Amino acid sequence: MLSKRLQVLATYLQSPVHFADIGSDHAYLPCYVCSKDLQAKAVAGEVNQGPYERAIQTVADQELADRISVRKGDGLAVISPGEVRQLTIAGMGGKLICQILNNDKDKLQGVERLILQPNVDAPLVREWLQTHQYKIVAEEIIEEDGYIYEVLISDYTGDNLYLTDKEILFGPFLLEKQNDVFRLKWKKEMDKRNYLINQMKLATTAPEAKITQLQKECRWIQEVLA
Ligand code: SAM
Repeated sequence: MLSKRLQVLATYLQSPVHFADIGSDHAYLPCYVCSKDLQAKAVAGEVNQGPYERAIQTVADQELADRISVRKGDGLAVISPGEVRQLTIAGMGGKLICQILNNDKDKLQGVERLILQPNVDAPLVREWLQTHQYKIVAEEIIEEDGYIYEVLISDYTGDNLYLTDKEILFGPFLLEKQNDVFRLKWKKEMDKRNYLINQMKLATTAPEAKITQLQKECRWIQEVLA
């Protein structure tokens, strides 16, 4: 059974589905999508040998090798420019996701949709999307096995876009909807920030700029949760 988190990503793939799943590990997502949609095609990319072998095994076990190409390589190195219309990158930190996208920008040619699930640092990913003219068209926030995950769905527009600082932090759609998971996440985030502020104030040279930033974010969180 595919995790709820990966099922959410799958629902945002557009037909005809031809996508690359970067950092695919067992290739569960491409296998799920290609077993449900008999026209779908995918590339499962993996940089590490163990996960790469696991991906090959899952694809072979499900007899999907004719439609899922498992490739070993770093980030977008596994695809050619124009090869896929959609990319999924899930289960990594936001910094690593941005690094993968930055490292091989020519491979984004023709990529209309990015479906990204950063485990942490989602604001960095939103900033990257905005800078690279990908418009966030939907966002999801879910809880699974005690963890909270955000999924960002974005389409290439070619237009300059502008998100406010608050939208970068909370997510424009998540901020609008404010479901229970969102509220739970930001209650926890406020506690984290308050703890950090208190710890930083104890340091001999307190990082004033960082403290001010965290205090500003705490005020925003209070406003949003009010
Ligand atoms: N995407 C799957 C998911 O969400 O369940 C697997 C997530 S797993 C935590 C992260 C995977 O990304 C690992 O299998 C790791 O080997 C792979 N990975 C990390 N950096 C990578 C990179 N630069 N290029 C390709 N794969 C990478």
